Amino acid sequence: MADRVYLDWNATTPLRAEARAAIAAALDLVGNPSSIHAEGRAARGMVEQARAAVAAAIGAEARSVVFTSGGTEANTLALMPGLRIGSQPSEQLVNSAIEHASVLAGGRFAPEHIDTVRVTRDGVVDLDHLRSLLAGRPPALVSVMLANNETGALQPVTDIGGIVHAAGGVLHVDAVQAFGKITFNINDLGADLVSLSAHKIGGPKGVGALVLGSNLAGLAPLLRGGGQELGRRAGTENVAGIAGFGAAVAAAIPAMAADMSRIEKLRNRLETGLRQTQGSEGGIVIAESAPRLANTTLFAVPGLRAETAVIGFDLAGIAVSSGSACSSGKVRSSHVLEAMGFGPELAQSAIRISLGWSSSETDIDRCLQAWRKLAGNLTKRDHETELERF
Ligand code: PLP
Repeated sequence: MADRVYLDWNATTPLRAEARAAIAAALDLVGNPSSIHAEGRAARGMVEQARAAVAAAIGAEARSVVFTSGGTEANTLALMPGLRIGSQPSEQLVNSAIEHASVLAGGRFAPEHIDTVRVTRDGVVDLDHLRSLLAGRPPALVSVMLANNETGALQPVTDIGGIVHAAGGVLHVDAVQAFGKITFNINDLGADLVSLSAHKIGGPKGVGALVLGSNLAGLAPLLRGGGQELGRRAGTENVAGIAGFGAAVAAAIPAMAADMSRIEKLRNRLETGLRQTQGSEGGIVIAESAPRLANTTLFAVPGLRAETAVIGFDLAGIAVSSGSACSSGKVRSSHVLEAMGFGPELAQSAIRISLGWSSSETDIDRCLQAWRKLAGNLTKRDHETELERF
């Protein structure tokens, strides 16, 4: 894989050296963090060090961090009826149309108790629609992401928090994609629950956290059994994964500002190059006029079959992804692009290119070189390549 160019950082990131070292050290510990002997206390120490790092990164209290098996579990744990800030529990869920599948699935809410708020053409939550969904109704739990994983569009979460709290509700923020890419603080956001995932910031896959705001009440565990995580998530902790998560956070956050400003320049150069390529005529950068993550480009070219382009890039040694997903042998349009009002043709034609801390100018050059070869052929509308084989 030496000669590969990895430009799919929103899907997952390489493991940071600091995380690998912490994982190796944790794997050598024999103790159970719940045991009171020295071996147990050593394992507990690793878990608590990681908890402190995760909490500090978003201005939360360490005891508010509940470690989970990742962002999906954190979202599922958060989405439950009965959460409250004041005295009245939230019995309805309002999510946005561009959420991750784990939020769209609604967690512990029955489908008839879920409403979905629209987004604008730029992929940003429509605040007027949100107000109208909350008006004159009992308090709701509202779940919105801080940054969208496909477009990178940042959501007006602080404004949303104001609207939700004025209506007596609770705000959950899926910050999985924003964490390590923009600075935020749980209190400034006005969030009552925040989901995070380690593998988007250089930690291991399969570990994440749900962080609770100080006024939140009513959370019930998804996994019941032992009293781990202050009774909020049963099961012996994934000590190695958690240690890797903590080490990744400790490495990522101080480097973030410098990394992101360098990455943004590369991303802008990429977008200019994509547009200037012959065969990209009519191509658009999705959500370009919204505030966006500095590392993400979602580029759509009418007539392009994104899945074919992803394969073409792959054969040229470049890992990117498409805005649409393959499942059950069918190519599905991106629900995010559909929610933004793009028709199926465009919604199936988007390529996502996402950068990270080790992305280089050479990576961008190689990506553009591959695109120059692919663009002309793949955008011919009568291109015979079909994707039945998926
Ligand atoms: N939320 C968002 C916005 C994501 O991008 C992802 C992963 O792609 C998740 C949640 C799920 O996180 P995990 O892979 O840790 O389950």
